[in-house]
Amino acid sequence: MEHLPNEILLQIAECNWEDTGSIGQRSKIFATLSRCCRRFYRLFEPELYTQIQFGSWFALPDINLIGRLWRNPELARRVQRMNLEFVLCGELEEWPIEPTGDTLELIEETLAEMFGPEDDHEKDIRRQHLLKPCPEAWAATILPRLINLKSFGIVHQHSCGCVIDLFNRAALRKRPFHQTTLPFPHLREVILDSHPGIVYASSDIFNAFFCLPSVRRFLGFTIYEGNEVPEGDQVLLSPQPYSRSVRELTVANLLHSVGRISWIDRACTKLEYLVVKMAVEEKDFSWAPEEDEPVEEKFGFKTRQFRQALLTFTGTLRELHLVATIAFDMFWRLYAEEAFGSFREFAVLETLVIRHAFLVGRSPDPEAPPRNQVPLFLQLPASLKTFEVLQVIDEMYMSLSIELRMLVQQRGSFPHLQRLRLFVKKVDESILRPLRVDCQTAGINLEVFDPNIEPWEWEQIPSFYLQRMTRASS
Ligand SMILES: [Zn+2]
Repeated sequence: MEHLPNEILLQIAECNWEDTGSIGQRSKIFATLSRCCRRFYRLFEPELYTQIQFGSWFALPDINLIGRLWRNPELARRVQRMNLEFVLCGELEEWPIEPTGDTLELIEETLAEMFGPEDDHEKDIRRQHLLKPCPEAWAATILPRLINLKSFGIVHQHSCGCVIDLFNRAALRKRPFHQTTLPFPHLREVILDSHPGIVYASSDIFNAFFCLPSVRRFLGFTIYEGNEVPEGDQVLLSPQPYSRSVRELTVANLLHSVGRISWIDRACTKLEYLVVKMAVEEKDFSWAPEEDEPVEEKFGFKTRQFRQALLTFTGTLRELHLVATIAFDMFWRLYAEEAFGSFREFAVLETLVIRHAFLVGRSPDPEAPPRNQVPLFLQLPASLKTFEVLQVIDEMYMSLSIELRMLVQQRGSFPHLQRLRLFVKKVDESILRPLRVDCQTAGINLEVFDPNIEPWEWEQIPSFYLQRMTRASS
């Protein structure tokens, strides 16, 4: 044991509580370990409160710990990561035990700090949530104390809105943030996960995260482009001096978007990394239009409108993924689609990953010519290092390989180009051979793949995007 490095010991300790997920269980294990010997004390004691979680396991020990954090600012300052899973508000039949006088006192103390005298109605409603007990309401109670929070994650299912209300208050500098210049000054990363197939979250609900001073990375999974919550607009439109700080935005999967993504055109000013992965809900096509309705007009992703919004970032955007789920690609095969248009203005773009139909446009008639006929080498920026084309349209496989040969032959115009990647259904080497020769001559790495089935498409956040977040935050 004494030869094991500290990192391994920490990993073993984390494994012992992650199954239960209970904040109370984690602190119990770490507290016990820290009492074993001096080495363990130095190793585990500082870790006692660094990350916390709430969810369906929520119970009285968790409330007691929240009380401890709430009353001891030094302990609360240790928390750097918080994960929440909202599934239970209103569904607990009764308290595990009757709330004690201490808990009732804590509830009244926190309510007095959160709500002013003019908010009596809201205060009464929140009291009911806390008494249920609602894990989300309790999470909202402790959040204002977590001033060193760096990472915040939500699994959003049946939220009752208490936490979102709290972040809206932070963005608008309302109570309890009315005297705070920089709410959540160290919060750099937000991960939002909805339970796909059960609930889809409207993008507007989460606008507040784009108005906090330090959030740099935002990952949203299974959301739809919405404009349904007036508070959302109120948050985004409010003139706050430290807002719109997100640099890296991943929205995958995005349902029901027409390209007017308010997070992009109103909530960011210096985007460097953007992933938009379009999706359709294959289990529920109830949103699909009636016969004779103009499908493209009403539901199609307006690629050009999206491009227009991106023009704000021509000097900052280094990596762009405009991609789609397989279900999306198959559904829109029946309809016309716009092409994105030129990327030339994006002067620092180094990585472009794009679904073929977004690149060239598409007509429902497979014999029709592509809608965007400008040669590829005239559309891409000189800064490009990596270019990937996904879901290559079968009928355009040949013409794409010719376009890519022309691109490679213009090596002087693309001095940084290092890698081309294609994802095609059937790799035809006779078509690819001339391109392979040209790439070899030009010193460019060409890779061609069969597109894999994406088992995660409806189940969970794609690991590729999560790994990026984890790497960036470590
Ligand atoms: Zn609740």
